[in-house]
Amino acid sequence: MQIRIAGDEVLRLLAKPVKRVNRQVRELLDEMAQSMYAASGIGLAAPQVGVSRRLLVADVGTGLVELVNPQILYREGMQVGLEGCLSIPDLVGEVERAERIRVTAQNRVGHQMWIEADGLLARCLQHEIDHLDGILFTDIAIKVMPASAVQETAQVVLD
Ligand code: ZN
Repeated sequence: MQIRIAGDEVLRLLAKPVKRVNRQVRELLDEMAQSMYAASGIGLAAPQVGVSRRLLVADVGTGLVELVNPQILYREGMQVGLEGCLSIPDLVGEVERAERIRVTAQNRVGHQMWIEADGLLARCLQHEIDHLDGILFTDIAIKVMPASAVQETAQVVLD
């Protein structure tokens, strides 16, 4: 799947809820995971592949997470770290996020699930859920800089 780049209006839409978690949705989740791994990203939201629906995939190295209609139930603490985005290849930014979140969503067969995340996974999920609301990290970053400025010295999160 082709990853949409900032400037594409689909990235700015409020994504619609997924009504039924059917085979089409599972195929989309599979294709999104493939695209995420192929791009060496740690997360990908459906609007990034041109689908304005509320679903995302993520893998920060601890296994694949697939969330349909995710909602953040609570946020706790604060972390500041560098983020990049597969849809904004040239920039990175320092972004303030909650350190820990609790999220409810549906899984790939439509069952309600809950996930507690902290650290990098919490950052990644907040970034992806922002995508579902048409928000890009550059909208909320404390500081934005060219990706080339940090490539050598820091590990940048791409999602
Ligand atoms: Zn992103």
